[in-house]
Amino acid sequence: MAKKDPRSAQIQEDMAPGSLTLVGFLGEDTRSVDAIVRQDEALLQKEGVEIADIVKALKKFTFIGVDGLGDPVESGDYQVTVDHFRGWQYCPFKHKKKISKRNTTLYDKVTKKSLYWSDLSLHLIEEHSFFQGKGSHFRMEPEDILEILRLKKSE
Ligand SMILES: [Zn+2]
Repeated sequence: MAKKDPRSAQIQEDMAPGSLTLVGFLGEDTRSVDAIVRQDEALLQKEGVEIADIVKALKKFTFIGVDGLGDPVESGDYQVTVDHFRGWQYCPFKHKKKISKRNTTLYDKVTKKSLYWSDLSLHLIEEHSFFQGKGSHFRMEPEDILEILRLKKSE
C-alpha cells in the first residue's frame, strides 16, 4: 500500500491543471489522490496482479518502441510508438525526481484498444501506485491495462 503523505493537501493542489503541468493529473476526478490510489490498488488486488508486473510490461514496450525513432514498431500483437520531446517533468509527489518527456502509444491489434503513457506516468504508477484521475490526459484504467497486456488471471 502507498503510504499516506503528510503533505497531501499541497500535492493535491499541484495536481490540478495549470500548476505543475498544463493538463494536470486529476482530470474531472473529484476524489482525493489517496482515494484514487486506494481504489485502483483494491481492483488490482482483486485481480491478483502486482503493480510491479504492470510497470515491467509497460517499460518493456517503451524500450522496444524507442528503436522506431517516432515511427511505429511491430511487436507481436502490438504496435508501439515512442515520441521524445525536449525538456523535463517533475514528480508531483515532491520526489525531486526529474523525468524526461517521453510518450509511448501501444496499440493492441487483438482488442483494437490503445494505451498511452509518459515516463512520468510510469514513475507515478511504480513509485506512488497512482494511475491518475478519471479523465486525466494520461489516466490508464487498470481494467484496460490488464486486458490489453493479457495480465488478467484466467477464470
Ligand atoms: Zn515521485
